[in-house]
Amino acid sequence: MNIILLGPPGAGKGTQARRLVEERDMVQLSTGDMLREAKDSGTDMGKRVADVMARGELVTDEIVIGLIREKLEGAKGGGFIFDGFPRTLAQADALGELLSEEGQSLDAVIEMRVDDDTLVSRITARSTCGNCGEVYNDQTKPIPADGRCTSCGGTEFKRRADDNEDSLRTRLMAYYKQTSPLIGYYHAKGQLRAVDGLGEIDDVAAEIAAILD
Ligand code: ADP
Ligand code: ZN
Repeated sequence: MNIILLGPPGAGKGTQARRLVEERDMVQLSTGDMLREAKDSGTDMGKRVADVMARGELVTDEIVIGLIREKLEGAKGGGFIFDGFPRTLAQADALGELLSEEGQSLDAVIEMRVDDDTLVSRITARSTCGNCGEVYNDQTKPIPADGRCTSCGGTEFKRRADDNEDSLRTRLMAYYKQTSPLIGYYHAKGQLRAVDGLGEIDDVAAEIAAILD
């Protein structure tokens, strides 16, 4: 089963994708994570995209489609969670073609709905474990007092360069302008399902599970 998690920054796509990986043995394909890895390891592409990402703008379709193509070519079985991809109509078309070339299909597109105020407060309070990627929130899920990650015991935590108010405004605008048209696109294809992204992590996970089963 291949699915897309669609929603604005801070909607909880990454959190839910991680759960699906643990509970259903699916494979998470996050273009955001792939681009951050390229940046951190200092590849040419990583250097080219760093500023664009820090500003909160989208990197080119060509780059992200290339990243996804590499992961899909020759991949066995189903079970991909597309997280943060596609983000434009051109990317959505490319994904459809790539999947059909691999003899695979898209089973559901899950739109995670969250209001803008919640997005802003989630993202400006967000940090992640530098080792395992567990997500923390200064208000709702603070880093434990002993400074150790609850999931792996790691002691280093990071904040993303684009988790600041200016970049976030740009990211939200990019979402509404360039990505939200995908809601209509997948609705028209009969593949769109929506979940309330404001609930507790477990409740959102249960809604997603109900759609997948
Ligand atoms: P967010 O938490 O804002 O949803 P991601 O971690 O998915 O962010 O992506 C971070 C940044 O990486 C984006 O703001 C954008 O610059 C770039 N990026 C990630 N995926 C894509 C994509 N599919 N198309 C274009 N740019 C992307
Ligand atoms: Zn950790």
